[in-house]
Amino acid sequence: MLLDNAHFRKVKRLTGKAVGDFNLIEDGDRIAVAVSGGKDSYALLHILTQLQRRAPINYELIAVNVDAGFPGYRKDVLEDYLRQCGFQVHMESTNCTQIIEEKRRPGSSYCAFCARLRRGVLYFVADRLGCNKIALGHHLDDFIETLLLNQFYAGKLAAMSPKLLADNKRHTVIRPLVYVEESDIIKLARQNEFPVIDCGCPVMGQEDQKRQRMKQLLTELADENPYLKRSMIRALSNVQPRHLLDRELVRLMALDEQES
Ligand code: SF4
Repeated sequence: MLLDNAHFRKVKRLTGKAVGDFNLIEDGDRIAVAVSGGKDSYALLHILTQLQRRAPINYELIAVNVDAGFPGYRKDVLEDYLRQCGFQVHMESTNCTQIIEEKRRPGSSYCAFCARLRRGVLYFVADRLGCNKIALGHHLDDFIETLLLNQFYAGKLAAMSPKLLADNKRHTVIRPLVYVEESDIIKLARQNEFPVIDCGCPVMGQEDQKRQRMKQLLTELADENPYLKRSMIRALSNVQPRHLLDRELVRLMALDEQES
């Protein structure tokens, strides 16, 4: 049970708004909530559970942990906490670490390979548990950092999707914390003393230098304009195709005009 204060209610309201705006949860859903032992996934699981209590529909939540197998990962701390809180829990042990060591091409990203492997295991476990949806703990800052990363380094205008049918067409990935700023999750985690553990991987905090730079840039700009992050997330739902250069979009708009 989380402390029922104004801050908790704010996070719950924003998550509920995202669930409504994008129709993230439907009657009969069985949702695998990915939990790593990080603050974001604890927050996600708690808030979805709170929303479930008053929801006019029925859905199930199962906390799913995929242990990549890094030495020192204290999944026992995570599991004890989840069970004490009364969540339905599934812990999956894997040999991802070994596969990364054996199969990763020299010079390729450790994190990208690791994330792909763990995502694959998550889909596999969701299938076994009969879950049709997978909830991930990405928050507002993740969305806008990705937006900037794609513009600065990949030459594309794209962030993340709050709701996406996976390539296997069997699972829908949902990100209900899309409207919640990371600072609010940090506060929630502190107030409720989430037992945050680190993944024990050898590259934590080293690989994603570009994302760290985006985070720093956004923090600096948000110091000057406290509404900056909210404005950026609003921009993602207020796209003006006429003022962009995507030739396919221009072609589709011209077709649309001809037909109307
Ligand atoms: S930080 Fe560590 S656990 Fe996370 S994706 Fe990278 S290698 Fe995997």
